[in-house]
Amino acid sequence: MPAKIIDGNKIAKSILEDIKHKVKNMKQKPGLALVMVGNNPASEVYVNFKEKDSKEAGFYCERYNLDNDTGEMDLLKLINELNQKPEIHGVLVQLPLPKHIDERLITNSILPQKDVDGFTPVSLGRLLCEDTIMAPATAMACIHLIESTGTKIEGKNAVVVGRSNIVGKPAAMMLLEKNATVTVCHSRTKNISEFTKKADILVVAVGKPKLITKEMIKEGAIVIDVGINRVGDKLVGDVDFESVKEVAGFITPVPGGVGPMTRAMLMENTLKAMELGRKFSQ
Ligand code: NAD
Repeated sequence: MPAKIIDGNKIAKSILEDIKHKVKNMKQKPGLALVMVGNNPASEVYVNFKEKDSKEAGFYCERYNLDNDTGEMDLLKLINELNQKPEIHGVLVQLPLPKHIDERLITNSILPQKDVDGFTPVSLGRLLCEDTIMAPATAMACIHLIESTGTKIEGKNAVVVGRSNIVGKPAAMMLLEKNATVTVCHSRTKNISEFTKKADILVVAVGKPKLITKEMIKEGAIVIDVGINRVGDKLVGDVDFESVKEVAGFITPVPGGVGPMTRAMLMENTLKAMELGRKFSQ
């Protein structure tokens, strides 16, 4: 039987509706600042979506489109201003940044209580200590999508392919926190399929089209495809969707899987950031 498709658009829409409903009755609205440097076309699309979502959710949103040659100090100054601004609860700097800017320096300058992307060392460290304030939105999205199938994560063999600080590692940590037995595969792993074939839950975050094929999948597995790759005029994931869906139990499509859920999680984090902001100001 072909896999059930996990409809990220539908789940994300219902989360956004809930947020919208909550925000409607709030006197002060959650405030999100979106900062973009340069004119990377993919980044522009992502930021447009995030702006649209935040407006639809009823948030207060400020958008900053900075020139490609903006200096590091000017960007730091802006973040510092946004860190101080009471009406802004979440600060998001769209990555990648132009080469002359140190991404880590910039990310680290966001106040942890405004770090809605969950990328600062404080956010990641707290995730590691099972004391999460805000987790990276894509990793959160993966967990939500897995749980949307009604499958309990506890006791399952989970394999994460990819070990980036913003997706692979946090996804592995969150699965571990949910009591899965977690294996992380990466570019130096030998014979990846030996691991993926044992996975009840497979999360793939690499950025290589068709990296994961049907032969690498355990029958009935939950397959979460985080990858976004442009092939010709189409967007595809890292999983060979057409063949893998014949073996898997559940699978996320690209587009329409992890992407929209990541944005919904970002809105949840912004709402959480507002609540945190209140605590910090008391
Ligand atoms: P990254 O480049 O930082 O990390 C890629 C990881 O893949 C590395 O850890 C590397 O070790 C591993 N890798 C590389 N080649 C491999 C191979 N042949 N076999 C196994 N592992 C290999 O990327 P990232 O930021 O983690 O993003 C991964 C993908 O997810 C990209 O396609 C990106 O566009 C996408 N992404 C999607 C969302 C979303 O919302 N849907 C969010 C973030 C990233």
